[in-house]
Amino acid sequence: LATHFLDRIEQSELNAFLHVDRALTLAQAAEADARIAAGTATPLTGVPIAHKDIFVTRDWRSTAGSKMLANYVSPFDATVVQKFRDAGMVTLGKLNCDEFAMGSANENSAFGPVKNPWDHSAVPGGSSGGSAAAVAARLAPAATGTDTGGSIRQPAAFCGITGIKPTYGRVSRFGMIAFASSLDQGGPMAQTAEDCALLLNAMAGFDERDSTSLTPELGGIDEDYTRELGQPLTGLRIGVPKEYFGEGLSKDVEDAVRAALAQYVALGATLVDISLPNTALSIPAYYMIAPAEASSNLSRFDGVRYGHRAAEYKDLSDMYRKTRAEGFGAEVKRRIMVGTYVLCHGYYDAYYLKAQKIRRLIAQDFEAVLNGPDAVCDVIMGPVAPSVAWDLGDKSDDPVAAYLADIYTLSTSLAGLPGMSIPVGFGAKGRPVGLQIIGKHFGEAKLLNVAHAYQ
Ligand code: GLN
Repeated sequence: LATHFLDRIEQSELNAFLHVDRALTLAQAAEADARIAAGTATPLTGVPIAHKDIFVTRDWRSTAGSKMLANYVSPFDATVVQKFRDAGMVTLGKLNCDEFAMGSANENSAFGPVKNPWDHSAVPGGSSGGSAAAVAARLAPAATGTDTGGSIRQPAAFCGITGIKPTYGRVSRFGMIAFASSLDQGGPMAQTAEDCALLLNAMAGFDERDSTSLTPELGGIDEDYTRELGQPLTGLRIGVPKEYFGEGLSKDVEDAVRAALAQYVALGATLVDISLPNTALSIPAYYMIAPAEASSNLSRFDGVRYGHRAAEYKDLSDMYRKTRAEGFGAEVKRRIMVGTYVLCHGYYDAYYLKAQKIRRLIAQDFEAVLNGPDAVCDVIMGPVAPSVAWDLGDKSDDPVAAYLADIYTLSTSLAGLPGMSIPVGFGAKGRPVGLQIIGKHFGEAKLLNVAHAYQ
């Protein structure tokens, strides 16, 4: 199995993988064989998986898609990587992504863009573009992704695969190179919801090395995420937010999403019109909060402790300045500047604090329809993105156009809710369309069953 996928990776021209090491992978495969022979296998033993290059690994380079970390090798494995190894999974290598997970098209990677396997002139989405492309092209049966504002769901949609961003705090962030710590959440990407459930069983769980990991008292108990698979959907109430079907949504995506909703009605669910009135504010709120946290997190890349250091410099501040000027790409610099600005004394209240208040209002929108005394639905459905994958290069000079395309995924992240994307057909130019399914906090098992029933 490992050889099969390594051969496919070698022949691929998608640029999905950044680092592959055949000998290391085959050694892990041999260990898995021994474990199967010894009768100590788990359901995942011997199954290959590849990791987004945001997760650090001891044996493969960990670049975060950045020149800053081009030759960085971590002294330890991320908790997620370790957990999959403990389950006996075989690591295929590291996957391309937008630099420090900032982007929506994988075009912000220092190591070149990834091609969408369905159409090589299209982007695969981002920031987990390598993960989505690798799974879609059968270069790997499973991959890890991270989602700060849509980076699992949107590339899954653009590449026609299934991905889930769990409730914030479910999956350990230890060893996940930080972008915006209050939003970052890892999750699995695979062909089906059933596969994602099996992967999440190994991936999730309390980790004392992550200060925002959900403790058992807070609901972070080990669960069997496959437990609801196969249950009928009779009586399921699906909230359909009117703000997710307004101006800006392209017709091909709307048609595919509405056809999927009709399929859910045929499966016994009912559709309920809902409103999430603060949806539009998710863009300005997210694009202040995420850069603010990023500007702080990325201060560690100073040329002293990690990765790149400028070759020549006059003094310490010159070394910092040159190292960061050379090591970071344009989008990362833009976010460091925006983030530093909104955190400045004098602007903090007007921007950062206000964005945090809006974040609360957005969370309350979801709370009202999903949990409050007047709750009207069990899950929410809508599009993942306003269009199918765009052409390579289309938005690369226009960051705001890319930010606006995040409109349907940012709110879920700001509210810490679980959300997933499943493939529901094809739109313009034969490119895949994803349906987004959003659940209550801790509602992954239900979400996965709702997705599974469609598949
Ligand atoms: N597209 C969003 C951004 O650029 C989301 C990225 C992510 O979820 N990592 O920030």
